[in-house]
Amino acid sequence: MSAQDNSAQQQVPDSALSRRQLEEIVRELEVAVEETRQWLALFHRALVCRLRPDPEVVTEDAHRVSRFGRWYSTNRDDDIFSQPAFAMLVEMHQGLYAHAAILAVRGWKDDGISTEEYDALLHKIDSFNEQAGRMARAFRAALSDLDPLTGTNTRSTMERELIREQQRMRRSGRPCSIAIADIDKFKSVNDTYGHQAGDRVLARVTRIIEDTLRPYDSIYRFGGEEFLICLPDSGPEDARRVLDRVRNTISETPIMIDGGDPLSVTVSFGVAQLVPRRNLKDIMERADRALYEAKSGGRNQVVVWTAESA
Ligand code: GH3
Ligand code: MG
Ligand code: MG
Repeated sequence: MSAQDNSAQQQVPDSALSRRQLEEIVRELEVAVEETRQWLALFHRALVCRLRPDPEVVTEDAHRVSRFGRWYSTNRDDDIFSQPAFAMLVEMHQGLYAHAAILAVRGWKDDGISTEEYDALLHKIDSFNEQAGRMARAFRAALSDLDPLTGTNTRSTMERELIREQQRMRRSGRPCSIAIADIDKFKSVNDTYGHQAGDRVLARVTRIIEDTLRPYDSIYRFGGEEFLICLPDSGPEDARRVLDRVRNTISETPIMIDGGDPLSVTVSFGVAQLVPRRNLKDIMERADRALYEAKSGGRNQVVVWTAESA
């Protein structure tokens, strides 16, 4: 990845955007490049064939009625558009439309276009396409870190972020808990309602967990129906309180399946403390042991690993 790709990558907020939003951004950026190519063909066609320039090229608000311009206008209040990379892209887009309009009118009136002016327009178009392409790649990379079914971060990003969290707690001295959450008797959901319904339940439960956690907590899909939850700034008792709230919300929320009665599921949680210098694998094993206790203790509960439980 080039240095510029890296800077575009930094414009991608890690967890603020949903999978759907990321997909839309990638699509619109890619379409913008194609749209610009077709629009440039209109510009050239009018000049070469000595036709009146198309309104898509010369009207004052041409850039705003372009698909990219409309997409931007509709979403301009979203945080993402206030990011420097987007602000720059929109500015480039306006700039190249304004430049092309002037040249198109001049060419039509036979006033002549200098080589420098023409080259400058082509350069603007190249820059716009390169920037849009770079951003599409960066957002696509962010998308590949998200699990397609649940929209949560995948296991591959989890380890990186947990190590970062360990370093942070070493500096700050603040505690951090992790939890493995596992849906109870999930196999029977699949067996009773079918795998597709199971998928829907999985996505729905994930959404409930995300909505109930605090904004600075994070969730990763860990395995089939298992998630890892990271609870920064939380010791065992904070973790228990937060996860009990999540657990209750899940068990109290009916999940609708097409054409059937609403069903309800429960989730068990095993909690362990992140420890700065300890291997992540060991810490996960503690959480896993606590989860095992939660399952054997009757499910639908939060168990916190302690040295005694070892
Ligand atoms: P326990 O309470 O002990 O966790 O029981 P369980 O049935 O949830 O546990 P078990 O590990 O026996 O089964 C997990 C099931 O989760 C089996 C598998 O088919 C299902 N599963 C895993 N990933 C997916 C998925 O992506 N979609 C669907 N629909 N089912 C999945
Ligand atoms: Mg499981
Ligand atoms: Mg399970």
